[in-house]
Amino acid sequence: MAQTSGVDMEKIVSLSKRRGFIFQSSEIYGGLGSCWDYGPLGVELKRNVKEAWWKAMVQERDDMVGLDASILMHPQTWVASGHVQQFADPLVECKSCHLRFRADDLKDSKDNKCPSCGGQLTDPRMFNLMFKTFMGPVEGEAAVVYLRPETAQGIFVNFENVLNSSRKKLPFGIAQTGKAFRNEITTGNFIFRSREFEQMEVEFFVKPGTDKDWFQYWFQERFNWYVKLGIDQEHLRLRQHGKDELAHYALDCYDIEYLFPMGWSELEGIANRGNFDLAQHAKYSRKDLSYFDEETQERITPYIIEPSAGVDRSVLAFLLDAYHEEVVEKEKRVVLRLHPALAPIKVAVLPLSRNEKLLPLAKEVYGEVRRAFVTQYDDSQSIGRRYRRQDEIGTPFCVTIDFQSLDDRQVTIRDRDSLKQIRVPLEVLKATLAAKLAGEPMEVLPPGGSQWLGFDS
Ligand code: ATP
Repeated sequence: MAQTSGVDMEKIVSLSKRRGFIFQSSEIYGGLGSCWDYGPLGVELKRNVKEAWWKAMVQERDDMVGLDASILMHPQTWVASGHVQQFADPLVECKSCHLRFRADDLKDSKDNKCPSCGGQLTDPRMFNLMFKTFMGPVEGEAAVVYLRPETAQGIFVNFENVLNSSRKKLPFGIAQTGKAFRNEITTGNFIFRSREFEQMEVEFFVKPGTDKDWFQYWFQERFNWYVKLGIDQEHLRLRQHGKDELAHYALDCYDIEYLFPMGWSELEGIANRGNFDLAQHAKYSRKDLSYFDEETQERITPYIIEPSAGVDRSVLAFLLDAYHEEVVEKEKRVVLRLHPALAPIKVAVLPLSRNEKLLPLAKEVYGEVRRAFVTQYDDSQSIGRRYRRQDEIGTPFCVTIDFQSLDDRQVTIRDRDSLKQIRVPLEVLKATLAAKLAGEPMEVLPPGGSQWLGFDS
């Protein structure tokens, strides 16, 4: 049976706060339920996750274009999509302590009692998860708009705009990342389920009849994306939805699940949505959203395959999977083995000490390296301590400047994962770091008097 990465959520929550990855929203006022703020390192990590996705899904493909639609949309969008009618969870409330729960979370409890105080629960009623707000200076039903609960609808309503302006032919996709909001009844597990979160969604438009093949293609492609970025395959699985679980529009659906500390849970959903979305929006907007197929000379309504991922859940999975505790030379070392593409800081420049003779060269190296990679300079406390600090935030490489560097203009590069060290001339430092960040083994030495130094401990 698969085992989790072994780290519990508390360790990740505490590391996130201590090192500036993720903070509770509005903490000085006691916090706001299930909303989170990304700190200096978290914001880099999150941007890197989105950039890795964008690169793989848009920039490296000929059959995909990007979009950035607004969060507020015409309210009819949500009538056509079914969200006004159907985007609801069954809610029960405790008659004594008034805590609220999702009825389907309590389906295993037989006695219909409140899990918190044991009080009697109300009958379930449907609770719509969309946040409502008002547009313009008047409040009232006519001015109601919703904060989007998913980014997908912005893509569907722009299908014709994108088709006409980009001259794409089927099959092609539109990709988007952005905020979504859901007034979830029960939240928790840190950033796993929050009320404000970010999604990375693709709507891939295909000819009917080719949809099953494209569906297969996409759930495999998306599974591989997580593996390529360093998640242990043993911690990932694909789970097909049962017929009773499928959303009303879906012909088929697979979840990519990650083995979180609380058990297997959804990281991303890949759905075959048939022609539901374009047909609904065509009906409600009275616009023709069909596609002219030049091969058959017919107008068709494309089918849609949707890989829909959560940015925050991905960040959490990458953090959990990267977290390792190990003992090196009888000392505990915490290391985040993040893929270099995701690591918030790529290189740390560390003078051996604060000795003023070292500073000019250290600053020179820092100035050079930071132009190529996100780099941190640190000269406080012992070198061992500084290595550990960089390990804990996942910095793949540390560059150390010592007294010998002043004579031979060579510096040491130390690898976070293997602790191996090499010594390289300054003129090849940037090229060497670029090669190592791209995965070249430490044993491969650059030309020009470089030297294999073995291991750091
Ligand atoms: P769940 O069953 O966990 O509520 P869902 O099936 O409703 O999720 P989708 O509507 O398929 O989720 O949304 C696509 C993705 O968006 C999810 O796989 C998840 O990564 C992310 N997501 C959805 N709801 C939340 C949330 N409340 N907080 C954080 N991420 C979310």
